[in-house]
Amino acid sequence: MSGHIRTTILSFLSAALVLLGGSLSAIADSGLADPAKAAFADKLYRLDCGHSLANDESVWTPGENVGRSIAFSSTCWLIQRRNEWLLWDTGVPQSALNDPKGWSTLPKLIVYHLDKTITEQLAAIRLKPNDVTYVAISHTHGDHIGNVNLFPNSTVLMQRAEYEWISSPDGPNDNVNQLKALARKLLGTPKNLKLLDGDTDVFGDGSVTLVSTPGHTPGHQSLLVHLKNSGFIILSGDVVHLQENFEKNTVPSLNTDKAASIASMARIRQMIATYQAKLFINHDKAQSDTLKLLPAFYD
Ligand SMILES: [Zn+2]
Repeated sequence: MSGHIRTTILSFLSAALVLLGGSLSAIADSGLADPAKAAFADKLYRLDCGHSLANDESVWTPGENVGRSIAFSSTCWLIQRRNEWLLWDTGVPQSALNDPKGWSTLPKLIVYHLDKTITEQLAAIRLKPNDVTYVAISHTHGDHIGNVNLFPNSTVLMQRAEYEWISSPDGPNDNVNQLKALARKLLGTPKNLKLLDGDTDVFGDGSVTLVSTPGHTPGHQSLLVHLKNSGFIILSGDVVHLQENFEKNTVPSLNTDKAASIASMARIRQMIATYQAKLFINHDKAQSDTLKLLPAFYD
């Protein structure tokens, strides 16, 4: 083959690959599973993964509520799909259990308390940490990955962008630098770590889908769950912290990318419309207090 022909073929092939990649990502962006074809997960349980008190709500609502304290919930979710289990986020470290001093990710701003362990909540439905196939984490803030180390045999699902971010050099925001250092410590080196590049259909049938929603952190993700009786439910991660922030498009000052945060909230709004989905907001205590708690479940 002459050099010229080889070059022509190679450039044709690479153009075709670019085209293919572009169209695949366009499909991924425009819609995840077809709502009419998505299979069902069996059960969705809410676990109490801690609660916290912050001394300045304006960190989450810039320009408003300066110096006002606010209480947040910390929520983990457990999903059964046939004989497999997926845990979504792992909450505040179990070492904080019943510690009156509490535990913190940013001691000057927020203190977390833990009243129940994940282990005892799993035991209430006769599960052990070893029964959990997947531990999927929305992002690497300490109140979401505090107990990843309880699941050494599970496959940890996180976005590659998140993993690369916590390993990257420090930036100008000290709070963010502190959060990254804590993330490296809490995450450690999981034995079975699967790094994802964007939206991921966990079981390959549309029942449970990780949805890329960057902005709070660079590799933040949310979770779309499909249930027979409850329909589609979106688990927020920290794409938004409070219902009011979602309504007003408010971006917390700790978020790493404001424009991406707004785009991710818009994406969630689009999904709510497409899937007729409910949005369960992890840290919105007023909402969380109204939701079913393990051993009760959504199906
Ligand atoms: Zn967070």
